[in-house]
Amino acid sequence: MELSQRIETLPPYLFAEISKKMAEKRAQGVDVISFGIGDPDLPTPDRLLDALAEASRDPANHRYPETQGLPELRQSIARFYDRRFGVQLDPDREVLPLIGAKEGIAHIAICFIDPGDVALVPDPGYPVYAVGTLLQGGEPYYLPLTEENDFLPDLDAVPEQVARRAKVLWLNYPNNPTGAVADLAFFERAVAFAKKHDIAVLHDAPYSEIAFDGFRPVSLLQATGARDVGVEFHSLSKSYNMTGWRIGMVVGNAKIVDALMRVKSNLDSGIPQAIQHMAIAALDGPQDCIAEHNAIYARRRDRLAEALTGLGLRLRPPRASLYIWARVPEGMTSVQFATRLLDEAGVVVTPGSGYGPSGEGYVRLSLTIPDDRLEEGVRRMEKLAASWR
Ligand SMILES: *Cc1c(COP(=O)(O)O)cnc(C)c1O
Repeated sequence: MELSQRIETLPPYLFAEISKKMAEKRAQGVDVISFGIGDPDLPTPDRLLDALAEASRDPANHRYPETQGLPELRQSIARFYDRRFGVQLDPDREVLPLIGAKEGIAHIAICFIDPGDVALVPDPGYPVYAVGTLLQGGEPYYLPLTEENDFLPDLDAVPEQVARRAKVLWLNYPNNPTGAVADLAFFERAVAFAKKHDIAVLHDAPYSEIAFDGFRPVSLLQATGARDVGVEFHSLSKSYNMTGWRIGMVVGNAKIVDALMRVKSNLDSGIPQAIQHMAIAALDGPQDCIAEHNAIYARRRDRLAEALTGLGLRLRPPRASLYIWARVPEGMTSVQFATRLLDEAGVVVTPGSGYGPSGEGYVRLSLTIPDDRLEEGVRRMEKLAASWR
């Protein structure tokens, strides 16, 4: 038996080393505290579970769903974009529900990438942009996100011959893993770049609702002309603690939305309809849960930022996203620092190098850890800081 060459192009599991060490520590009886996982610890709001339970009893929801999703869900998504961003979408041509944003992000490569084509991909970044490209025989070209440039890619630095082979530009703000945000002026530059090189802009925005201190992230689609070249991926996962239910959406350029719909109609059979009803309830109902969750995340951010600074890490407290991106002390690599923290304090952080070469020198900590575990982690870091001095 011989597997395909495409399978061979998949990168090895990037966090294998830390996972192995974590398992070893646990086997030794160490109470390991992990800041590694970007998955909301708080439960899905009750109101949404009620909507699910009710919808599950309706036999209309027991049959194959349509790939396009329920018209009511597409309308609900369009209302959300109007209310939140002042962006008007045609629910039948410019909105497509997804089985989580990740599903659409992986499959959209089929719409753009032929063997040898280039995808411009942020580094560090969510691994699926590059992996989706590789699985179609394409080449990711990494755009470094550096602190000097506020973790925005320098589009002017993309060589002309690379831009010529590129088919798409991937962006993600509020950003995972750096916690950086982008303003409208940046999205306008990205749209201009895409028009100049005749490529598509694919913006991944699952953290647009996770923001602190009154900050309101913008949508790519608010930029002038964005709809001519771009789509935005979004998700219910992070906003409504719904990672386990698998529902998201892509909105924007009708030609791109239609291409992805055609791919998906051949690959999957839609999103369970009871879960679509949950999403409708989430988007159309009261939004108090978002502010409540964000207040919890902001408090955790402040506690962690203080503890990390005490350990000699340098960071900018994020205005959005679920992550703290911290620079490790001089003379240590990301993996060395993460290993030391695990050995000496039983605390797991993710080495930034796992998100791409430009992530070297940083570690990522997630704010999705229960308060009591976070406090215990902070206590251990403070104790360690005292012993390092
Ligand atoms: C969590 C996450 C996603 C995936 O969202 P799902 O809707 O749960 O698939 C996509 N992009 C980024 C950057 C994420 O952090």
